[in-house]
Amino acid sequence: MGIFSKIAKGLKKTKDSFLGGLQKVFNSFTKIDEELFEQLEEQMIMSDIGVDTSVEICERVRRKVKERGITDPQEIMELIHEVISEIMGDDTGLDLTKSPAVIMVIGVNGAGKTTTIGKMCHQFKKEGKKVLVAAADTFRAAAIDQLQVWTERAGVDIVKHAEGSDPGAVVYDALEAAKARGCDVVIIDTAGRLHNKKNLMEELKKINRIIDNKAEDSSREVLLVLDATTGQNAVSQAKLFSETAPITGIVLTKLDGTAKGGIVISIKNELGIPVKLIGVGEKIDDLQPFDSRMFVDALFDMPAPDDEEEEDESAAPENEDEDFDEADVSEAEYDDDDEDEDYDEDDDESEDDDEDEDVEDASDYDEDKEAFDVDNFDENAEFTARTEFNIDENFMAELAQEKAAEEADEEEDDRFDFGDSEHETYETEYYSEEEEVPEKKKKKGFFSRLFGRKDEDDEDDE
Ligand code: GDP
Ligand code: MG
Repeated sequence: MGIFSKIAKGLKKTKDSFLGGLQKVFNSFTKIDEELFEQLEEQMIMSDIGVDTSVEICERVRRKVKERGITDPQEIMELIHEVISEIMGDDTGLDLTKSPAVIMVIGVNGAGKTTTIGKMCHQFKKEGKKVLVAAADTFRAAAIDQLQVWTERAGVDIVKHAEGSDPGAVVYDALEAAKARGCDVVIIDTAGRLHNKKNLMEELKKINRIIDNKAEDSSREVLLVLDATTGQNAVSQAKLFSETAPITGIVLTKLDGTAKGGIVISIKNELGIPVKLIGVGEKIDDLQPFDSRMFVDALFDMPAPDDEEEEDESAAPENEDEDFDEADVSEAEYDDDDEDEDYDEDDDESEDDDEDEDVEDASDYDEDKEAFDVDNFDENAEFTARTEFNIDENFMAELAQEKAAEEADEEEDDRFDFGDSEHETYETEYYSEEEEVPEKKKKKGFFSRLFGRKDEDDEDDE
């Protein structure tokens, strides 16, 4: 599937609600008046474009209507397209020019950080880059395991420490290792939740300082991962997280599962932070560089550009390797023998001790598994359930409370108190690594196909 088709498919729900809503308004008016603009504004707000941005769009459209002497309501659609295109402006890609380029990935729990990192690893690897991932979400062993599964799938290195260890130390080690191994890119996975939100913010600041010191000559990206299904709440999250580090770009995930894709426009307009990548599904190649022109065209249901290639990937059988078994994955030998050597040499100290713990931590799986009936899940139902639970809706309110309490009684220990029972009030993470396993089995054929046909894929995705 070409890029445009993929974006269009991912944006289908947003497009149906946005375009359908606007069309309804146009159809019920024969002349352009204030009432029409009011209804347009309402429609845009309902598509999660946000109040301020919706008002601004209508304002600009009004001006254009006047300037051009337009009288037919149906012509306004074209003007809205024009104004939104202007707002979206030019795109900014990832800056990876100075190696090792460091990409720190932040965002609330469940936003899609780890999944996005897995997808990025796959993408970079396909481009021939040498990638190292730092498992700096040490809050739960399962989070480390989940990241490891992704790195194994993509065939890239990981630096990890034990659960509960200092994330700063993981980042420090990863940056050392990346320099020693001549990596092109280091991607840092971070926690989206700690016992209290203040700690989370402090921890992210600390990681950022470590990068400042250890990688001062590197290209830097701080990517905030936002779940598009949270709608306007994503904008508040962006405001909050920008306190911890200068955010260089946004990854907007789960656009495939929501009608709230209009959020992209309000993020761009209200925060001025470029959306750099979008997630349009849960599979390893469901990450796309954000192309605002394509986005706007897809939103307005424009036809695919001429150069759009239509190669139907889904036509290939998914289960090519019948004899694939899970054990293959942990010891998988991807086509990077020399990398594996480096891996053994440098990694011994950070890796060895952890292996055993990972096994013990299997107990986490059972706990998580209860959230899903892994054996009979219907993909859509599962997605809905997951997004409902993952959204940390009280995040902002809790943080505000914590900040207030903080100001009141000063001085708090910087380190995390893992004996703290306060976290009982948190929802557990609803994905589980268990659920990744069937996916992994199913996709083995798909991956060997990808790695085996590197050139073709590169062409397809560029
Ligand atoms: P994290 O807590 O921020 O690391 O979030 P995860 O990477 O664990 O993702 C949480 C859930 O969102 C997982 O079940 C992912 O499969 C799912 N997810 C992530 N990105 C996307 C996306 O672009 N589309 C869909 N449909 N699901 C996604
Ligand atoms: Mg994660």
